[in-house]
Amino acid sequence: MNKKIFKSICFATLTVFIATLILIMGALTSYFTNSQKRQLKNETDLAAQGVLLNGKEFFEGLNKKTDYRITWVNADGSVIYDNEADPEKMENHLERAEIKQALENGYGESARYSSTLSEKLLYSARRLPDGTVLRLSFAQSTIWTLLMGFAAPICGVAMLAIVMSLCLATSLSKRIIEPINTLNLDEPMKNDVYEELEPLMKRIDVQQKQLKADRAALEKTEQIRQEFTANVSHELKTPLQAISGYAELIKAGIVKPEDIKPFAEKIYSESHRLSTLVEDIIDLTKLDNGGYGYQWEEADLYRIAENVIDSLEAEAETQHVKLNLEGNSTKLYGVPQLLHSIVYNLCDNAIKYNHENGEVNITLAKDTDRIVLTVSDTGIGIPKECSDRIFERFYRVDKSRSKEVGGTGLGLSIVKHAALIMNADVSLDSKEGKGSTFTISFPERN
Ligand code: ADP
Repeated sequence: MNKKIFKSICFATLTVFIATLILIMGALTSYFTNSQKRQLKNETDLAAQGVLLNGKEFFEGLNKKTDYRITWVNADGSVIYDNEADPEKMENHLERAEIKQALENGYGESARYSSTLSEKLLYSARRLPDGTVLRLSFAQSTIWTLLMGFAAPICGVAMLAIVMSLCLATSLSKRIIEPINTLNLDEPMKNDVYEELEPLMKRIDVQQKQLKADRAALEKTEQIRQEFTANVSHELKTPLQAISGYAELIKAGIVKPEDIKPFAEKIYSESHRLSTLVEDIIDLTKLDNGGYGYQWEEADLYRIAENVIDSLEAEAETQHVKLNLEGNSTKLYGVPQLLHSIVYNLCDNAIKYNHENGEVNITLAKDTDRIVLTVSDTGIGIPKECSDRIFERFYRVDKSRSKEVGGTGLGLSIVKHAALIMNADVSLDSKEGKGSTFTISFPERN
């Protein structure tokens, strides 16, 4: 950039110099031409007076080495006198522009380039009272000869201009670049820099803030991931340790025969818990990948709820909880597998955290362009301070109760992520000891 500015300044300075030179030379040439024309006219008038007074004798007293060419022409164009050539050998001058004008108007002038083109001839002609015409001509330098004459001073000035433009370009480019080189890009808005750079500084500032936010989000995600990995290891370890502990006791033969059945039941329930946990982890990992690979189609949420009720019926009966479904066939565009997961986890929790002889009510309703699913129970409810945290992975209000009822601590996390993928809103209304209502509002069309 420094080089570019330097070159631009040099180029601009030299262009201005050359343009100025051309303009000055043009103005000088026109000034000289006009003053020479005026001078030639005066000289012609003076010579005309001399010829009028002294006739041909006037020419005899003239200095032959004059810069002017003097020609005296008859009214018919024949030459009477010429100070440079033999009048007898000269051609008729009647067609010469200045002679023609002088014969017609009393005075005429013209300019013609000489055959070498290195000089221009100015002609001035005056008609005398006897009808003859006296003409004076003068060789004027062309612009090129004028330039050649000025060559030395022009070269001097040009050298000076080049040196000056180089010095100017060096110091200017340094001064322009310096504030840019010392920009504080960490805090762009604190720079007191050119007005033209303000939009760029603003953009950098926005990008910096975005970058900081992205970094914070990334750190948060990484922290969540690390916590999740630690929790997964811990959650897997607990049932595995229980299974291997019971198996080891049986293997060692120190378990009484009547205790073998309860031990086997423990092993069975722990391994069942383990496989549910692994399934939930797999589901969550898939959801974490942004939901790619899921099959989107039109699904009937009512039918899905019916299926969920069928598969949870036995569990509900064991817990003495009644399951009710309200609503009609309700179709929406979504991922059937995720819809099932949402309804299943909500209903499963509503049974698990219910009182004996409690109820679970599942309702489906249409609200303009949204489908609203509510799962409410008459269970233990959720304390207000935990209502946000229950959607976190492995968060449980009452850890021992969750474990007792076979919870993994991942159900509501799956609900939240699955809802997010289908652009659904999740809300909770709960009263401790009275029950909870989870509401999921799906867009009909995604
Ligand atoms: P879990 O497998 O432990 O049920 P979830 O993620 O499904 O894990 O739920 C997280 C926690 O939220 C539960 O451990 C429980 O304490 C609380 N919870 C969830 N649903 C209900 C509900 N319907 N009633 C009362 N508490 C609930």
